[in-house]
Amino acid sequence: DLPFIQYGSKTKRSYEEMKKAAQYLPGGVTANIKHFAPYPIVMERAKGAYLEDVDGNQYIDYLMGYGALALGHGHSDIAKAVSDQMSRNGTFLFGTPHPLEVTFAKKIQSHYPSMEKMRYTNSGTEATLLAIRLACAYTKRKKIAKFEGHYHGGYNEVLYSINPPLSEAGKEEEPEAVPESSGLEPFADVKPLMLPFNNTKAAEKLIKKHSHELAAVIIEPVQGGFIPAEQSFIDSLRRVTKQYGIVLIFDEVKTGFRTSLGGAQQLYNVVPDITTLGKVIGGGFPIGVVGGKEEIMKISQPKASGDVFDAGQGKHSSAKDILFHSGTYNGHPTILAAGLATIERLEKDFDRILSYTNTLKRNIEYLGKKANVPLKAIGLGTIFSVVCTKENSIRHYRDLQETNLGLRKQLDFHLLNEGIYTKPLNRYSISSAHGERELEKTVKAYERVLNNRLE
Ligand code: PLP
Repeated sequence: DLPFIQYGSKTKRSYEEMKKAAQYLPGGVTANIKHFAPYPIVMERAKGAYLEDVDGNQYIDYLMGYGALALGHGHSDIAKAVSDQMSRNGTFLFGTPHPLEVTFAKKIQSHYPSMEKMRYTNSGTEATLLAIRLACAYTKRKKIAKFEGHYHGGYNEVLYSINPPLSEAGKEEEPEAVPESSGLEPFADVKPLMLPFNNTKAAEKLIKKHSHELAAVIIEPVQGGFIPAEQSFIDSLRRVTKQYGIVLIFDEVKTGFRTSLGGAQQLYNVVPDITTLGKVIGGGFPIGVVGGKEEIMKISQPKASGDVFDAGQGKHSSAKDILFHSGTYNGHPTILAAGLATIERLEKDFDRILSYTNTLKRNIEYLGKKANVPLKAIGLGTIFSVVCTKENSIRHYRDLQETNLGLRKQLDFHLLNEGIYTKPLNRYSISSAHGERELEKTVKAYERVLNNRLE
């Protein structure tokens, strides 16, 4: 049993708020991921590196909006950019092209030159959905392949084997596609081919076997933002997908502007065919971007001589020739202003965030060693996760399952009591708001928990 007692007594109002919430929202939450047992902590305020809950407890935030907040909460550059943009425009939404769409694209491309042309969406989910449709249209093939343990959003084509029970997951070299949700049965014909991450031989074999029907291979180049692909694995994936005309999609929604400013593709020196971005580039507001080779992206280009009709308002003679991509809020001016301000600030602050991350990782491992608790802080760039294991390498989802997840959860709950917020079992995302003071507090909290509390 996990020691919830203290956590409960400090968070009475959270408990009450969650009971109220459950009357209106299934499970009291607006996304399943926000839930954890026995009940999630309800936050009321945030500033910089800190969250404050409805009971008035303060926490150093390491969730940072699931990695989206690279500058912490309420950064003044973003607040100013948003307010300037709104007052300058005189509107919150044009519904037409506007110049900031181009400024933002140029900024993204300066860090991601592989994104020769791009389109905006409202989330990472929509971005990968569009990337897959582009790949299918381009290759005229029907199937996609994804890796076990990788997340690309919550829709039918990719909602398989994100956290599969190992008893159902099949052989490592030939993983089963285990549905991650109920309600997928009617769409079973879009089930992806599952590939093993960081297993070059087996992944290549499967890709070759299905090469005639594969439109795309989609990958998180750093799984969950913290389990890096091996360089030789990524190189082989690039080679084999190119060889068989399969579109390689780098889903950099988590790793973009985190693994490095230029994402995982910069670090690995690989040019994917399509890249998807999200999270950081919205500065806390919802956004996604899909970009890639001009040859692929141009499939979504309206014909210069043709009109594009609204739903139900006109007749398309060539609907099958042009890839459908739409969205009332795509290229939202307020969000692009927030995103641009974020990237401009991050260009200056990235190295400092990276240095904080590396120091914290080193300290956690050192304290673990000192207290004889097997802890590894693994990851690349400004995200990492703490895994409880003596093993030196965690290469994929299955390795992670072998680690002591119970111990990690205990650690997380004790840290919550110490005012360190990580959603249990989640990764740590660092921001520019994390400084000396937060580092010291975090290290001391770790020290207390590791020395006194863990059973
Ligand atoms: N792809 C990856 C790698 C992600 O980490 C996420 C979200 O966590 C998504 C796609 C989906 O993005 P969103 O939550 O913005 O829809």
